Order: sequence, then structure tokens, then C-alpha cells
Amino acid sequence: MAIRTVIKIGEPKLRKKSVDVPINDIQTPYIQGIIQDLSDTLLEYKTKKGIYKGVGLAANQIGINYRIFIIHIPPRRGIKDDPHCMPLTVFINPKLVNHGEKTTSLFEGCMSFKHYRAIISRFDEVEVEAYDQHAQVFRMKLKGFKARVFQHEYDHLEGIMYIDKADTRTLITQRQYKLKWMKALPEEIDKLINNQY
Ligand SMILES: [Zn+2]
Repeated sequence: MAIRTVIKIGEPKLRKKSVDVPINDIQTPYIQGIIQDLSDTLLEYKTKKGIYKGVGLAANQIGINYRIFIIHIPPRRGIKDDPHCMPLTVFINPKLVNHGEKTTSLFEGCMSFKHYRAIISRFDEVEVEAYDQHAQVFRMKLKGFKARVFQHEYDHLEGIMYIDKADTRTLITQRQYKLKWMKALPEEIDKLINNQY
């Protein structure tokens, strides 16, 4: 329906806790329109080479403080049956039901805080529950990158930006990320985290 502007850090709406969508409203044109706009907006943001710039988008990032986000993780190039990919999935009033103990520290970026990345620790495995766009409850277990993206988007609904939880000494520009860190070995990332640079 419409490609919306992704609001940037500094906008109060990104810092406000979002409210639940009344279940009976999920199928109204208003909520369906928000879902469509989220999808249109996320799928619009691509690099010149056609690579998607974002893998998730929360409603408050387009200025609407309802507890809705979408995740869309395309398969990585050259990887057949990529286990990290996820078709476009809508999460309404999501809940983090359970999580494993293990965490991993990796770089993250955000469409509301562009041109930077920082390392943040996230749970490797989460079990989540949400309503879909048809007002049906679903539950799923997410691992690795998918679990990370869910936790990032969930934080948006709480008014939390990834930089709040990141080790700010690991903050780097997107350019530096591409030049050096995108393919860095885990040992090098450990050095960065442990202030050994
Ligand atoms: Zn974000």
C-alpha cells in the first residue's frame, strides 16, 4: 500500500513502549494496512546490487506504537537451503516464552540507526508466541540469526535500541564493518569485545 519513512534514533516514538493490538482489531483494514506498509517498506530498502538492507521492521519504526513487527530473512547467496532464512513472518503482540542459556556476541545494525554497527550479546535459542495477520496464535522455536533478529525487533516494541545493550567500545561504521569486520574471525571479535585492540 505504501512505503513509509523509517524514523531515526532521536524520535520519541522509538523510545516509547508499544501497546498490544486488540485481538478483534487484527483483521481490520487499519491494522492490515500497517502490516502491508511494514512489508512494503522493508522490501523496498535494497542496495544497488539488490540486497535487502534490513531483515526486520517494527511498527514504531514507521511511527506506530502498536506491538507488531515483521521479519524477512532472504537466503544468503550461494547457500542452498540456507537454515538462517525466514519467509516474511508477521508477529503481533509477540512474547518471548522461553530461552536457552547460551548467548553469542555479534555485530548488529538498525535501519533507525544507520551507518553504524556494534556488538551485542543475544540468546542463541528462543521460543516465541505471537498472533499472525489472520489473528491466529502460533508458537515457534528460533535459533541463531533468526533468534537474534526476533530479540532485536522485540526490543523495539519495548522502546529499546540495540545500542542500549551493546558494548559501545565495539561501535564501528558500516564502512569499517564491510572493510574489516564482516568476515572477521571469532578471535578478532573476542579481542574487540575484551578491549584488547
Ligand atoms: Zn532495529
